[in-house]
Amino acid sequence: MTNSAFEPVIGLEVHAELLTQSKMFCGCAVVDSTIAEPNTSVCEICTGMPGTLPVINERAIEFAVRVALALHCTISETSVFARKNYFYPDLPKGYQISQFELPLAHDGWLAIETEAGEKRIRIRRVHLEEDTGKLFHRQGHSLVDFNRSGVPLLEIVSEPDLSSIEEAKIYTTALRSILRYLEVTTGDMEKGVIRFEANVSVRQAGSTELGIRTEIKNLNSFRAMTHALSYEVERQSNILKEGGEISQETLGWDEASSSTVSQRSKEEAHDYRYFPEPDLPPLHVEPTWVAQIQSELPELPLEKRRRFVAEYGLTAYAAGVLTTERSVGDYFEAAVESAPKVRSIKIANWLSSDLFGLLNQAGIDFQDNDVPPVDLARLVEMVEIGEVNATSAKTVLAEMVSSGKSPDDIVRSLGLSMIQDPEVIESIVRRVLDAHPRQVADYLDGNTGIFQWLFGQVMKEAEGRANPSAVRSALSAALE
Ligand code: ADP
Ligand code: MG
Ligand code: ZN
Repeated sequence: MTNSAFEPVIGLEVHAELLTQSKMFCGCAVVDSTIAEPNTSVCEICTGMPGTLPVINERAIEFAVRVALALHCTISETSVFARKNYFYPDLPKGYQISQFELPLAHDGWLAIETEAGEKRIRIRRVHLEEDTGKLFHRQGHSLVDFNRSGVPLLEIVSEPDLSSIEEAKIYTTALRSILRYLEVTTGDMEKGVIRFEANVSVRQAGSTELGIRTEIKNLNSFRAMTHALSYEVERQSNILKEGGEISQETLGWDEASSSTVSQRSKEEAHDYRYFPEPDLPPLHVEPTWVAQIQSELPELPLEKRRRFVAEYGLTAYAAGVLTTERSVGDYFEAAVESAPKVRSIKIANWLSSDLFGLLNQAGIDFQDNDVPPVDLARLVEMVEIGEVNATSAKTVLAEMVSSGKSPDDIVRSLGLSMIQDPEVIESIVRRVLDAHPRQVADYLDGNTGIFQWLFGQVMKEAEGRANPSAVRSALSAALE
């Protein structure tokens, strides 16, 4: 039996820090914990002092409802916060407030586009909890920073519906894109704002039974997740191939050795002794409020992608590039709107290959891009109507990126406007023909192949700025 006889079954738990102004249960500001001075955004509540009382952050609930609705979940009118008890130095209360038996939302789905077409990944639950602090180990000491302690954390748990590592990648990428569209998180992977836990088992291809799974903790990047999953699928397949059994356990991903390492087995599984948080009443979410949030949801990436294909005639790939980030899609549509005569597909090309390329080279993030959509559209229009040729337009765009000036100003100051005047073109053609009597004679003798060479000479003489089709007709006319 080979490994190919096994297929992976994957269920993901995705954690996202929410971009609220204050923390989940206190008034402390949510700060960027990779930048802020340690322990500067803390109070007695988020450092777990006895006798303090948590208060639920309404904005965090709103954000969570937004996500749950975008994932087609049922929102629970009543949900309950619980204490998840465990000891760790980054958890000052000795428990984390989380939702357990009654989560905020349940039973939704997220559609992903796979090579085989659309697939719906069922969402088991969406709930709110609070983040922990952070530990730093240096020079024999352990230090703790509580700035992150109590930051709202959203957990999104899928059903085990992902059947390849590729699907897990598509799912998490799509989910991150949705979270950013909804403006509930920065989604900054480098700062650990989104973290994954992957549950994985393997089974005989075609079987409908679930195998014994392992759970891989602390995956902080797409790369770590896909590497850990492929390592684990391979490891489990090999055990089964040799007739062994998988033991249900919690694993950690060790980047250094590129392998999963056992953290605890089922027998030593945590008993968190969940019980309803006595300091918080059950959470009631008004259906009218939910309906209002629903009505304010933006168009989501997949819908937008399909609309871009239908409305602008883009390829699915191009539409995908333009819709992963909401700001890019908005930019594209603003550009299209400002230049009704220009073909949208041209704007899409200039945006996704040329402008993206230049920004990338210059290390500029798209949101810091200084080229307004109208200017990009105007440049494409200049190419379309022949005011500037495509090669010069690339120079102009580079200048637009670095100076923020308008394309008309740059074309004027660099003298790049295309030569359209028939008289000017004719006189250049004349000059070139006079300078090359031998080639002209050759042509007249029947060597028509020389036409292309003469054309090149005229373009060179015009410094590449003459309208090519006007040159072509002026040249044939002159040679007649
Ligand atoms: P726990 O509460 O112990 O974390 P759950 O049963 O709630 O476990 O499942 C957690 C995650 O594990 C979910 O994303 C679920 O889809 C996934 N999962 C459950 N069983 C399997 C399995 N046999 N193979 C792969 N993933 C699984
Ligand atoms: Mg779990
Ligand atoms: Zn606080």
